[in-house]
Amino acid sequence: MAGTESFIREAERWSAHNYHPLPVVLERGEGCWVWDVDGNRYMDMLSAYSALNQGHRHPKIIAALKEQADRLTLTSRAFHNDQMGPFLHELSEQLGYPKALPMNTGAEAVETAIKAVRKWGYTVKGVPSERAEIIVCENNFHGRTTTIVGFSSEGPYRDGFGPFTPGFVMIPYGDIDALRAAINENTVGFLVEPIQGEGGVVVPPEGYLKEVEALCRGANVKLVADEIQTGLGRTGRMLTSDWEDVRADVVILGKALGGGVYPVSAVLADEDVMDVFTPGDHGSTFGGNPLGAAVGLASLRVIVEEKLPQRAAELGAWFMEELRNIDSPHVEEVRGRGLMVGVVLKESSGTARPFAEELMERGILAKETHEQVIRFAPPLVVSRQELEEALVPIREVLQAPVAQTS
Ligand SMILES: *Cc1c(COP(=O)(O)O)cnc(C)c1O
Repeated sequence: MAGTESFIREAERWSAHNYHPLPVVLERGEGCWVWDVDGNRYMDMLSAYSALNQGHRHPKIIAALKEQADRLTLTSRAFHNDQMGPFLHELSEQLGYPKALPMNTGAEAVETAIKAVRKWGYTVKGVPSERAEIIVCENNFHGRTTTIVGFSSEGPYRDGFGPFTPGFVMIPYGDIDALRAAINENTVGFLVEPIQGEGGVVVPPEGYLKEVEALCRGANVKLVADEIQTGLGRTGRMLTSDWEDVRADVVILGKALGGGVYPVSAVLADEDVMDVFTPGDHGSTFGGNPLGAAVGLASLRVIVEEKLPQRAAELGAWFMEELRNIDSPHVEEVRGRGLMVGVVLKESSGTARPFAEELMERGILAKETHEQVIRFAPPLVVSRQELEEALVPIREVLQAPVAQTS
């Protein structure tokens, strides 16, 4: 039987090296637990960057996948299917929007939102041709397409991939005055993460989103919330915008919308934006396919029926307090909301990577984000008892006198 080493060697040999995974090879998962090829068990505290809010292989989602796989999987949008309508109907009503447009990956949904607000700008707002501007934030993460990395502030995301799409203006995150100053008559949208996930679990100042909403509304600028990572219960509300009673004009969902089994993303918006699309101007071969729609509907229902947002709120508040109570020489700050938690390390403790490796050795899979931050984001089906279990090795690693370097 081939072990960890040989699987890693094979993957390294045959794949592009665009990731730096932890040296663990997984073969099975259930709920918040995964097992490696040597039979070791780990708690998954990354949840595939929040694509596994419902846990690994949730029985209801797997059942929907199997049932639909036995009936019809793909039609393309050249024909109707009996799954897409019911899925978008329930998704829209649950989230409080009149229209939804289904795609597959998060980046595609972000691209869709960009196209929607640009075309809205030209056809409804009256922005002169080719002049639309979209405001974005420093330290953002919205995906990996050429257009999206073009408005990233991260060197590695951009370097070597230009020339880039024009029409984006960058401002500091969490700075309402910067937004006010950046808006002009050609501004069509403000694209923002309610909490920056990949940027290191950065929570904006209290009241920021509410001020953003008012400012955008007053200036006839569409507020576009990228809730791909923060949405669907992760931070303790269905949408993170809900914490401040903010209703974005456009909401982008992905990740957990596919319940950890299939890529499903969507853009939600009001008619004035969504109606700019007409037959032929946007599409996707797989977007809205019946298999994805069946999985998406089951994934959404699990979030609602199992009250995952409430679980995240309660468990997250307690878990963050437990983390803050750890007497650690390494921890600068514990921040986040719900079960989206970042442990920020002190400069003097080096990078987060060796901590993630130490945690892995002790049965916890977490990943560093932005060098200095360890992200803890377990599936929302995790129990308090399971989190207590996880806190034992987490305390050990964070209390150890010196981090090893690697
Ligand atoms: C993951 C993520 C994306 C991109 O989603 P993909 O499915 O990887 O294309 C976009 N925005 C945010 C906030 C994300 O976390």
